[in-house]
Amino acid sequence: MVYKLGTDIDLIMSNLEGISFHDQKVLVTGGAGFLGSWICEVLLYQGAEVICLDNLASGLKENISHLIGSDKFQFIKHDISEAISFDENIDIVIHMASRASPLEFEHYPIEILKANTIGLMVSLEIARAHGSRMVYTSTSEIYGNPQEVPTPESCYGYVNSIGPRSCYDEAKRCGEAFVTAYSAQYGLDSRIARLFNTYGPRMRADGIYGRAIPRFIDQALSGTEITVYGDGSQTRSFCYVTDQIEGILRFASMDAARGYVVNIGNDLEISILALAKKVLDITKSDSEIMYQPMPSDDPIRRRPDITRAKELLRWEPKVDLNEGLFKTIEWFKGA
Ligand code: UDP
Repeated sequence: MVYKLGTDIDLIMSNLEGISFHDQKVLVTGGAGFLGSWICEVLLYQGAEVICLDNLASGLKENISHLIGSDKFQFIKHDISEAISFDENIDIVIHMASRASPLEFEHYPIEILKANTIGLMVSLEIARAHGSRMVYTSTSEIYGNPQEVPTPESCYGYVNSIGPRSCYDEAKRCGEAFVTAYSAQYGLDSRIARLFNTYGPRMRADGIYGRAIPRFIDQALSGTEITVYGDGSQTRSFCYVTDQIEGILRFASMDAARGYVVNIGNDLEISILALAKKVLDITKSDSEIMYQPMPSDDPIRRRPDITRAKELLRWEPKVDLNEGLFKTIEWFKGA
């Protein structure tokens, strides 16, 4: 099978049937990243006008280069931590700008903190100036090592404020506090999506950008050792990109979702060792598993409670892990 991204875009469009962003102007910060570029593309198909802002720190121009030239799409290379304003009216701001890979936490902690605090404040000021709806993409990382699994939105989390992941975890927690404060003080129409591990085409596997799934696929396809940290018993719950994008856009579109925080992810929990074996199995690779030390503060279990997303957004994940991995592997083969 040759993977076609257009088929997945069609799938999201059909899952979003009845929802429209027609003639809405949407600002997407981090719009050239893995998830941001999918959001921009689907919004264009939905009839929106899209302003994509990205400093290309971890995003890639090639993710959106095919959109440049459309009269409804504008790309601005800009670091959202620096002030920017717009004359034209903006209906929705989706703040997605941030590095998100644990290896980036080590190298760029200050940038990550800035993107989710100062950068988010720049986005909030734009939303305030235009009376726009604000969608903030937060993360399961705000739960740290959660006290409850499956983790509902009511969980406060258990996070080390001075650990190696704190630049991301605490920045996102502070980001949520910023959004809450802007809503309380200025009556902003806002909402917070807590995204759980998402994977799929356009995810980077290279260097510090690689997360578990793209790294394992890359290692399996190139016949190099699969690097499992610790004994691989730590768990994650992986959501295929089409499901994640559908969830975020449902959330962004609904008047009734104003003021909510919602977990968006797949609730099938799997150990990292089982994931590595699955990738080896699907790719039919001979790569060996090489165990490496467990990074400190790496969460032991992660699985969302998605009851609220099911009820409020009338959404649930549809793509099974085997199918999603298969598609992602096919995309990596062709990339
Ligand atoms: N992991 C691993 N080997 C790798 C990369 C990641 O064993 O080469 C583990 C990592 O320790 C974590 C899980 O896989 O427990 C998911 O890591 P990822 O980088 O995808 O993101 P996280 O969920 O930790 O933010």
